[in-house]
Amino acid sequence: MYNIVYIPGDGIGPEVVNAAMRVVDAAGVACNWQEAHAGLGTFEATGDPLPEATLDAIRGAHATLKGPTATASGVGFRSVNVAMRQKLQLYANFRPARSIPGIKSRYDDVDLIVIRENTEGLYSGIEHTVVPGVVESLRIISSKASERIAKFAFDTARRQGRKRVTCVHKANILKLSDGLFLESCKKIAADYSDIEFDDCIVDAAAMKLVIDPHQFDMLVMENLFGDILSDLTSGLVGGLGVTPSANVGDDAAVFEAVHGTAPDIAGKGLANPTALVQSAVLMLRFLGEKEAADRVENAIRQVIAEGTSLTGDLGGSAGTEDYTKAIIAAM
Ligand code: NAD
Repeated sequence: MYNIVYIPGDGIGPEVVNAAMRVVDAAGVACNWQEAHAGLGTFEATGDPLPEATLDAIRGAHATLKGPTATASGVGFRSVNVAMRQKLQLYANFRPARSIPGIKSRYDDVDLIVIRENTEGLYSGIEHTVVPGVVESLRIISSKASERIAKFAFDTARRQGRKRVTCVHKANILKLSDGLFLESCKKIAADYSDIEFDDCIVDAAAMKLVIDPHQFDMLVMENLFGDILSDLTSGLVGGLGVTPSANVGDDAAVFEAVHGTAPDIAGKGLANPTALVQSAVLMLRFLGEKEAADRVENAIRQVIAEGTSLTGDLGGSAGTEDYTKAIIAAM
């Protein structure tokens, strides 16, 4: 029995989280679901968008399934996601991008993983006004965090049977900061002789991914580059609506879709739960439930390939409920 925290979140969050929980239950994995709260609704109700009780619940659980949370600009609270990653030290962002037959995109058979360092870089939040009209943002790169993310990438590559890890960087210009990131990756690579290692400058990597994504296997990079290139790789397989992600640390793991709260369709039963169900698949793999994960993933692929129960964003007319039932029936 796994203790799993679920965070309904805002907008379409409760609808897609509910769908993903039902799919996990139907896969036969015994979960003790514990509800916790975060987001704009939580802020309005309690004055705190990320209560300490939620952080404690996440720390005490085997894993957490999180719905999207709204970040309202100007109301004085930071992004729940950024705060959660830093407070729980969820240092690795894991974003697979795998084509799903039936979802139109430029390429048919993309199968890539982007690993993004989640805690430092330009997202360290250290910025100030130097003089009026001039702002300075500090980009922090440490050998500790760089080696930690490189090790996560190689361990994941080994576990998932990946052949090559590519470090993406800008060490030709940012000689000290990206130089340190690249050196850290090289140092860790030396301990993994069974996995190939190479590196690529970030602008060239962006171009190569668009021209021919098959030339990469797993990519590891610092925070900002990872933020941008992982959206690019999502775009290669049909966009944010279908792409899952995992935020992993030594003490906690939070699985969530890449998309936001979709306020335009919230509460209407129209949301596509694929991205969150795919995030639940990552969670099942993280828990070691490989057979259940494969079963759910195959069911998603079967339902999408058949094309009869697709939600509006994928060109169909089914609602969240019909689509969820179709996945459960296909398992
Ligand atoms: P969004 O992803 O919520 O919506 C963009 C468009 O995609 C909308 O038209 C929406 O209807 C559609 N869409 C998104 N997910 C869908 C789904 N599952 N099924 C069908 N259609 C879907 O992006 P946004 O409008 O820029 O952001 C809205 C809010 O979400 C903001 O407050 C933002 O801060 C927040 N957000 C949260 C997360 C997160 O919690 N992980 C991520 C991104 C954005």
